Amino acid sequence: MNIILLGPPGAGKGTQASRLEAERGMVQLSTGDMLRAAVAAGTEVGLKAKAVMDAGDLVSDVIVTGILSDRLDQDDVASGFILDGYPRTATQAESLERLLEEKGMKLDYVIELVVDEDALVDRITGRFSCAVCGEGYHDRYKRPTVEGTCDVCGSHQFKRRPDDNEETVRNRLAEYRAKTAPILPHYEARGLIRRVDGMAPIAEVNEAIEAILDGH
Ligand code: ADP
Ligand code: ZN
Repeated sequence: MNIILLGPPGAGKGTQASRLEAERGMVQLSTGDMLRAAVAAGTEVGLKAKAVMDAGDLVSDVIVTGILSDRLDQDDVASGFILDGYPRTATQAESLERLLEEKGMKLDYVIELVVDEDALVDRITGRFSCAVCGEGYHDRYKRPTVEGTCDVCGSHQFKRRPDDNEETVRNRLAEYRAKTAPILPHYEARGLIRRVDGMAPIAEVNEAIEAILDGH
């Protein structure tokens, strides 16, 4: 099963993708994480991407598609992938189509997380993650069970993304509205879209997605 999780920044794509990964052995493909890893490693691609990402803008299609293509060639994606944060533009949607065709892969569902925009700024400015294993948390909605200790790996180090501030979030939401939302009708026409209420608590959103994947 290969799916795309689509929705504005803060909708819960990363949160749901990591649950599906843990529960179903699917592979989460976050182009944002791949790019941030390239930035941290100081690779050529990373250096190009850094300035653009710090401003909340979109990295060029060529760079992102190249990173994704390499990732799709690794063996683990055979157990099913979850694309999280890609495609973001009509051009990327077309590139994805070509990539999948070339590699003999297909999409089963595009799951849209539907959320209220006011909630997004609140979610994004409150989010942080474990610096060691990457588990996601939130100041109000998902605190570690033991304060200051990661539930998953026990680390005491956490980090926040530099672009998770209100000004950048507003810019990313505008980008989503202008460039990403317009690709929904394309998937709609192919009968791939399934809508899920992303305002529900994390566990309920997860159940709704599981039901779709189980074909209910
Ligand atoms: P995205 O990957 O779509 O940008 P995230 O998965 O990082 O979004 O979620 C943004 C923040 O909101 C995270 O801190 C996460 O813990 C929190 N969050 C995610 N889903 C929900 C939800 N259904 N209810 C409340 N908070 C949520
Ligand atoms: Zn951890």
